[in-house]
Amino acid sequence: MAARDDLLEKAEALDDEALGASGAKQDELRKRAAGLRVQALGEKPYPVLVCSACFSRTGWLDENGVCETDAMRRLQDSSGGWVDIRDDRPRYEDGPSPVGRRVARALGLGRGRDRAREWLMWIAPGETGPVDPEEGWETEAPLSFERPAPSGPHLLVHFDTRSLRFEDGAWRPADTTRGGKLRRLVPREFPASLATDALAEAWSDFKEEVAAHNRAVWAAEAERREADAAAEEERRHARELESGTSELLR
Ligand SMILES: [Zn+2]
Repeated sequence: MAARDDLLEKAEALDDEALGASGAKQDELRKRAAGLRVQALGEKPYPVLVCSACFSRTGWLDENGVCETDAMRRLQDSSGGWVDIRDDRPRYEDGPSPVGRRVARALGLGRGRDRAREWLMWIAPGETGPVDPEEGWETEAPLSFERPAPSGPHLLVHFDTRSLRFEDGAWRPADTTRGGKLRRLVPREFPASLATDALAEAWSDFKEEVAAHNRAVWAAEAERREADAAAEEERRHARELESGTSELLR
């Protein structure tokens, strides 16, 4: 783990250095940083390639050696800014409408159990979030979807995250979460034709990165809450002592 953190630290330093450089020198620094990140990820059964334009890791490169984002950007530039790229991302299912939910609640239908079940959809209690369902809690949920590559006959499998907030007993899409952006090493796109085992391992690695992110967010929050509780306990104790003293002085 230390070796891995070391590699990532070096990669970051190179990227910082690249910010102050330009041209070929800048590309060289960013390429070296990318190489260190690939090394940090380690040997994998799925492809870990580096885009020659943005130097991010990807499991798929087009015939010009660029990732999907850059291939799309180039396509857009060459077509005068308009290109029909289908977004086949699955929309997050909202479940019953808010009104339907309210009616169900008023009737007392399946209250506690549904709420708990909904919570468990995205939270490992006490690990990636609070033990009990909590209004307003936010989490990052991994999702995968397929869409055609910008060029060629490939179908690409994508990994992404969706920010969710627990509201009114259900998960709703949110713009951001308190944990901020997910730091990841696993590529986010692969050819759908990749061997199933390799694809499954990439997905499991990606999900672990998301879970690690959520665990870190909860660990920090749990620590904060414990400190708050300890401070409150101390205040209560101090108040007791004070009133005890004034009793004596009476
Ligand atoms: Zn790129």
